[in-house]
Amino acid sequence: MDKQKSLRLIEALSNANGVSGFENEVTSIFSKAVQDFGKVSEDHMRNVIVERGGNSGNKPVVQVDAHSDEVGFMVQAIKPNGTLRFVTIGGWSAITIPAQKVRVRNRDGEYIPAVITSTPPHFMTVEDRKKLPQVADMSIDVGATSAEEVMNDFKIDIGAPVVPDVAFDYLKDKDLLMGKAFDNRIGTACLVDTLQELNGQALDVDVVASLSAQEEVGDRGAQITVRRIKPDLSIVLEGPPADDTVVENYMIQTGMRRGPMLRDYDRSIIVNPGFQAYCLNLAKQKGIKAQRAVRTGGGNDGAAINLYQGTPTVVIGIPVRYAHTPYCYVAFEDYVSALNLVTEILKSLDADRINKF
Ligand SMILES: [Zn+2]
Repeated sequence: MDKQKSLRLIEALSNANGVSGFENEVTSIFSKAVQDFGKVSEDHMRNVIVERGGNSGNKPVVQVDAHSDEVGFMVQAIKPNGTLRFVTIGGWSAITIPAQKVRVRNRDGEYIPAVITSTPPHFMTVEDRKKLPQVADMSIDVGATSAEEVMNDFKIDIGAPVVPDVAFDYLKDKDLLMGKAFDNRIGTACLVDTLQELNGQALDVDVVASLSAQEEVGDRGAQITVRRIKPDLSIVLEGPPADDTVVENYMIQTGMRRGPMLRDYDRSIIVNPGFQAYCLNLAKQKGIKAQRAVRTGGGNDGAAINLYQGTPTVVIGIPVRYAHTPYCYVAFEDYVSALNLVTEILKSLDADRINKF
């Protein structure tokens, strides 16, 4: 892999605006990055499918998926005082929302900087300070003083998508990435690099990549891509929430610098045990760090793919500290481990092995 090229790609993807339903910037970066690796097509929902160059049409089909969207907000109503009432898109904890910088897309497609409102301490009673914030009480402030100003000068309408306003940073000394939307732009970048690594290589499977839209609102894009691809097997690349700053040591299953997480169970999927064991063994054999996770919450595109026709599916996640908040960390070494594991899996698979899953 070309590390500098990968870093530039991750930076562009992380900075791109792409709340669920508005993934255009992400899909155009992705489509350009993969154009030499196969036949690229995009549907009206902004799902992108890449049929790898050299696919035979008579080998088992492996769908390698990542989702393109990120969690964010949408303008619900414009208040007389010029602030914007909003709803959340995807899962947020209300406590991480107030006082953040965001970007609101206006009618011309321009992103306008804004701040999510909070009450200055001067106006809070002792009781107020103890209360948890509620999204319904928050608004977005673009700096206007009337609804007319918002609609006429800022050109912002109801339905405008909103994303966190965060710029990517690479912390060279620690080989650490900092930025927004690593769930799932890190998986998206890994999908590009997987196609890059395999480019020109002969495989015993046909690889079709999908960049599915709208995962954060219920795996909606993957329900479409799986029906178009009709895979025999699937690998889902994700940016799952790291738990190593959250739980006790013995419970850490998605820790930073511990390699990719292979999920056994979450609310949406029980992965195929044979395929899961195969991937974990391969990681061990090749000396690639990996960890496995049994989660009580969560969900991912693997659910939609698995349920299409029982397709054996594994989920390979690059741990993201503080996923679903504006500021996240990823260790680049975990990205490399995930990429190595995915390419080794794809290089080793054939019809016989897949039949045994
Ligand atoms: Zn995700």
